[in-house]
Amino acid sequence: MTRVNDGVVIVGASAAGLSAADGLREGGYTGPLTVLDEEFEPGYDRPMLSKSLLAAKEHVTPAPLRSEEHLAARNIDLLAGHGAMGLDIDRRLVVTNWGEAIGWRHLVVATGVTARPVVTAGGTALPTLRTRADLAAARRLATGGRPVTLIGGGFIGLEVAAALRARGVEVTLLCATELPLAPVVGDEVARRLHALHLAHGVSFDLGSPVTSVVETPHGYDIHLADGRTRAATSVLAGVGTEPATEWLTGSGVELDQGVVTDAAGRTNVEGVWAAGDIAAHRTPLPGRHRRFEHWTHAVEQGRQVGLNIARGEAVAHEAVPYVWTEQYGTTLHMLGERRAGDTDTVVEGSLDTGDFVVLHGSGDELHGATVCGRVRALRTYRKLLRARASLNDALGAAASA
Ligand SMILES: Cc1cc2nc3c(=O)[nH]c(=O)nc-3n(C[C@H](O)[C@H](O)[C@H](O)COP(=O)(O)OP(=O)(O)OC[C@H]3O[C@@H](n4cnc5c(N)ncnc54)[C@H](O)[C@@H]3O)c2cc1C
Repeated sequence: MTRVNDGVVIVGASAAGLSAADGLREGGYTGPLTVLDEEFEPGYDRPMLSKSLLAAKEHVTPAPLRSEEHLAARNIDLLAGHGAMGLDIDRRLVVTNWGEAIGWRHLVVATGVTARPVVTAGGTALPTLRTRADLAAARRLATGGRPVTLIGGGFIGLEVAAALRARGVEVTLLCATELPLAPVVGDEVARRLHALHLAHGVSFDLGSPVTSVVETPHGYDIHLADGRTRAATSVLAGVGTEPATEWLTGSGVELDQGVVTDAAGRTNVEGVWAAGDIAAHRTPLPGRHRRFEHWTHAVEQGRQVGLNIARGEAVAHEAVPYVWTEQYGTTLHMLGERRAGDTDTVVEGSLDTGDFVVLHGSGDELHGATVCGRVRALRTYRKLLRARASLNDALGAAASA
């Protein structure tokens, strides 16, 4: 069946896709607007999955991003349970799992990422936490009364650890680096995070990557790179993500660890755009692409792509990267991007009190800031990062704060 749609089709009804739909209407686009998503109840507050929704004693469902009234008022046709299976760029059709071929004049790819699987020697994929369905499985881990071993010391692993501890679950966290999240926030902040988790009863096994996981009658044997084996009863993995580009393979849309776009969200195919976690933005350095997997970025970039299509423009989305994480009631905000080899300078407050600003940079270059408590500082450092201010300028701003 072919659905005639000489308008815009957005694939993915989450932060980026729904923001693109809003941006289109805000920008004055009045034509047909269809949003497809393979999930049956798409469009929910994903960041809350690893925070309050996992920590809650009673089962709570994630908050929807848009109400039915919102979608109806903007004439946005949301097709839930419709996965895109392929794209025909010559005939301008997207093919769904229902066998439909839906026409488009502009197409926005907003299919995000999937959790990178960790597969046991027996071929079983370990639980991860990316979707509403994953939350239900993760909550079962929390109610089973058994200790849980987490693989991965990134945002997901740490937030899940905090949420499970709030439920009284015994947690061991296996982390490939010497300190969790150190590459993102630097050693000093990572040390503080580590101490926070230790104080809440999390056990750590640091500095040795997991090489394989084998099922046993009691659960799993987890083999580490240093030759040790750890037994575990329940396991959840948070070891990164993979862009959801499978359906675009061979379509002619340029892929390179995501969908390659310019700063305005345009791909190499006229009329095909991408936004959110899946968009790999081409940088001035030859052969280099960047993807940001942060909520605010997905919302803002999605909206900009929608506005661009509606207005026939190609305005670049150039925001300072921002991500937050919540653990044990503490929120850590990260602006910009810390780079390997950066020095980390506490410029306000103190790490001991959990109320601080740490600047990341090298030479006289300011690369990022990590803020805890002092939310007003976010404005200052976002402004400085946007203006590409020097590290000295930022130190000066801190001194006069
Ligand atoms: C547990 C968790 C906690 C997080 N916490 C934070 C946080 O604290 N702060 C922060 O900044 N970021 C956080 N993030 C990241 C943030 O959620 C993402 O950056 C954001 O969801 C990206 O939005 P998106 O629309 O690009 O992609 P996604 O949210 O991944 O949505 C993609 C959508 O596309 C659909 N889809 C995929 N393939 C297809 C297909 N072939 N056909 C149709 N539909 C398809 C999916 O079903 C999904 O609905 C968290 C992520 C997770 C998983």
